Amino acid sequence: MSKVLVIGCGGVASVAIQKCCQVSDVFTELCIASRTKSKCDALAEKLAPITKTKITTAQVNADNVEELIALIKSYGPDLVMNIALPYQDLTIMDACLACGVNYMDTANYEPENTDDPEWRAIYEKRCKEEGFSAYFDYSWQWAYKKKFEEAGLTALLGCGFDPGVTQAYCAYAAKHEFDTIDTIDILDCNGGDHGYAFATNFNPEINLREVSAPGSYMENGRWVEVPAMSIKREYNFDQVGEKDMYLLHHEEIESLGKNFPDVKRIRFFMTFGQSYLDHMRCLEDVGMLSTTPINYNGQEIVPIQFLKALLPDPASLGPRTKGKTNIGCIFTGTKDGKPKTYYIYNVCDHQECYKEVGSQAISYTTGVPAMCGALMMLTGQWTKPGVYTVEEFNPDPFLDALDKYGLPRSENRAPALVD
Ligand code: NDP
Repeated sequence: MSKVLVIGCGGVASVAIQKCCQVSDVFTELCIASRTKSKCDALAEKLAPITKTKITTAQVNADNVEELIALIKSYGPDLVMNIALPYQDLTIMDACLACGVNYMDTANYEPENTDDPEWRAIYEKRCKEEGFSAYFDYSWQWAYKKKFEEAGLTALLGCGFDPGVTQAYCAYAAKHEFDTIDTIDILDCNGGDHGYAFATNFNPEINLREVSAPGSYMENGRWVEVPAMSIKREYNFDQVGEKDMYLLHHEEIESLGKNFPDVKRIRFFMTFGQSYLDHMRCLEDVGMLSTTPINYNGQEIVPIQFLKALLPDPASLGPRTKGKTNIGCIFTGTKDGKPKTYYIYNVCDHQECYKEVGSQAISYTTGVPAMCGALMMLTGQWTKPGVYTVEEFNPDPFLDALDKYGLPRSENRAPALVD
């Protein structure tokens, strides 16, 4: 019996909400709150006839802590699921602390305005000290650790697929498969085709910021940064086939480096088609990925936000996308004194997802882990005061829940390795 407040009602949130409604004995009451209330109302209306979960809706601007506090106080949830945007992570964490409520999200904090001088000074110091230049990092949310500990509250960070399930795979490998892990390669393959020359699978602004940033990986505890898309490999993915993939900076490398300090190298690769890369390069070259406002005909516009308005809404890709995703981790290390390799991954079919929840697999592979993470917290399996990432909790019940609710694991004990 629990009451949950979900903030956001976009592509990922709508999957997570539908999955919560499939587990009504735990998610007994749900409030869907977002900036655009009509989207929350439409989803609540769709779900009302098919779920026992009691759903209400609310309008909230999650950039405003006072508004959030008023909403949380009036609803009285056991958990707030932040499935809005990373820009809102800190305001929602502040509101949870003020109201004494547990918190979770699916992506680590980054600011909406990267030109803010106060943020910029801290960011530039971090770039120098840490050696990676992505706009997002965990330091902002890890800074809340003591406050959550003192309040006796749990904050679970980054509980989507990657970050999220990939870290549970790492915790699982460390617990059951290896005595020592030497290397981790996280491979994210989207073999889906939506028929557009260019579209992003989740929020375009967040997605394009991520993939246009320099790539980086961790080696012997230190970041190595390389120009964006400069490291390319080919890999033959189970049920998808041969794909080109590129090394990217990705947020879970940071927390895995901290929580598994003996691992010698951690890398992240994502597949991209040539058309996506050509379009992205061109848009970047003409300044369309910029977050700095420009004045156009007397009106201020942010180029990347204008681009977002032009691109297909990721939620609209569902009916058009065919093919599968394959996301997982390849490990090398030792067990019982012998060298060992191990690959654990999930394959997800875009059209199967669409049939079940009306979304493509990218939203599905993020929304299902968000529901499963919430399930772990609400059933008391993942609660400890403080701020934690997924690999810091017991992976077993979480992976069991993923197996049960739509993202079953596959394993390969002799995988091809990435050079
Ligand atoms: P969408 O843009 O589809 O949805 C975002 C939602 O948040 C919308 O409903 C939007 O409202 C709402 N929102 C935005 N700003 C505010 C605000 N100030 N106050 C209240 N509501 C707000 O994004 P996605 O669903 O694609 O992504 C959601 C999250 O999932 C992101 O943080 C993304 O980074 C993360 N993600 C994580 C992945 C993982 O594997 N870990 C993979 C993919 C995504 P409105 O309708 O008014 O715009």
